[in-house]
Amino acid sequence: MKQDCLFCKIVLKEVSSKIIYENKYVMAFNDINPQAPTHILIIPKIHISTLNDINKSHNQLIGELVEASSLLAKKIGVHHDGYRTVFNCNKDAGQTVFHIHLHLLAGRKLNWPPG
Ligand code: AMP
Ligand code: ZN
Repeated sequence: MKQDCLFCKIVLKEVSSKIIYENKYVMAFNDINPQAPTHILIIPKIHISTLNDINKSHNQLIGELVEASSLLAKKIGVHHDGYRTVFNCNKDAGQTVFHIHLHLLAGRKLNWPPG
């Protein structure tokens, strides 16, 4: 856990969030500023700042994040119409919270390429 990391505080439940799903490795909660009717953030319970910090020791954990996105899409019922999962990394992608998070966006037609 990293001090002063907002998402570490959400994991520790020091900051409240609308938790949608949680297991030993990951947590999923509603984005506070949703960009689509469904906008969920799926995060590892350990602190990792950006995708640049990922190495082979994280392979299982990254699998857990992706599996959670698939489970949640089915649970919410957006799996047939579709959804998008996104990791933003650093400034050109607009990363604002430096604890990696997989965005799960659904519920409307999503433009491609993204802006
Ligand atoms: P990114 O721009 O990829 O770093 O995404 C950070 C996301 O975290 C944004 O979509 C924010 O709306 C979201 N966010 C920031 N603070 C909170 C919070 N306290 N609870 C839930 N989502 C948050
Ligand atoms: Zn953190």
